[in-house]
Amino acid sequence: MLNRRKFVQASFLSSAALFFNKTIIAAGSSDFIKNNPIVLSTWGDNVKANAEAWKILSSSGRALDAVEAGVQIPEADPADQSVGYGGLPDRDGKVTLDACIMDENANCGAVMFLENIMHPIKVARLVMEKTPHVQLAGEGALQFALANGFKKENLLTPESEKAWKDWLKTSNYDPTTTPKLLEQKNVPGQQNNHDTIGMIALDAAGNLSGACTTSGLAFKMRGRVGDSPIIGAGLYVDNEVGAATSTGVGEEVIRICGSHTVVELMRQGMSPELACKRTVERMIKKRGSKIKELQVGFIALNTKGEFGSYALQKGFTYAVQSKAGVKVYNSKSIY
Ligand code: ASP
Repeated sequence: MLNRRKFVQASFLSSAALFFNKTIIAAGSSDFIKNNPIVLSTWGDNVKANAEAWKILSSSGRALDAVEAGVQIPEADPADQSVGYGGLPDRDGKVTLDACIMDENANCGAVMFLENIMHPIKVARLVMEKTPHVQLAGEGALQFALANGFKKENLLTPESEKAWKDWLKTSNYDPTTTPKLLEQKNVPGQQNNHDTIGMIALDAAGNLSGACTTSGLAFKMRGRVGDSPIIGAGLYVDNEVGAATSTGVGEEVIRICGSHTVVELMRQGMSPELACKRTVERMIKKRGSKIKELQVGFIALNTKGEFGSYALQKGFTYAVQSKAGVKVYNSKSIY
């Protein structure tokens, strides 16, 4: 039987492919584009987010504005239980959000453990632009958002509340994200544990930017912060080299400064795909069997508009939009 996540992914991918009249191809590579502008996002469902970013990129807008606009699509979508509104809550039943943004000049901003704000990415951008800091957390981030005109909203939907109540029956925290293992374990409420959006873009002027936003791992401890709002872990941009972003079990990404590592490997001359692969291999070298059941995926883009990905497990997809059209790729993986 298909679990929920597999079902959503399978049905979405086929309808997205039909809608855009494009093929889903087997493994990621830069085979259909060498030029800018271009935008890519973790997970195939995010063709919708890319389309929003594309409105800006295709009219010669700035990559920074494009990624900020693009990731607001899943942030506001209650059906996406991994980002923003409708995100699965922590173990206390509270939706807590993490986000960061970075531009071509190494300007960056982040919020973490933020509650009741629909668009954490907009707050992250304001942290970048209006404060002397890079990161604001929890109550302070909320105060800053409210002072800047954001409104408090209840982000816990009935569906996510139900998933949490189902999970409470066992209260067994399990960041396993391999669909097959989730199916075997049949953990209540845990069928859709993660799916952060990380988006990276190269604009017509040749500048790179990125954004990453998530409700984090489902049923995490209260106060837990993952990789997604950490510059260098969940996202990194260097306009001389490229950009990278990640999804999956954030603790594993943080340990190796994942996105920064991908960018540094590209600096040494590796293709985006090889840089992602070597980064995943480093993770395995350090952690071995401890991460055998976990998922982590990276996507990367260089200054030429070449892109690629790599993941620990099968099942990681990413979405790309450029002048050549829209595509969803199945990432290569180690396992
Ligand atoms: N990376 C996110 C985190 O650890 C989870 C995800 O990708 O869904 O919070």
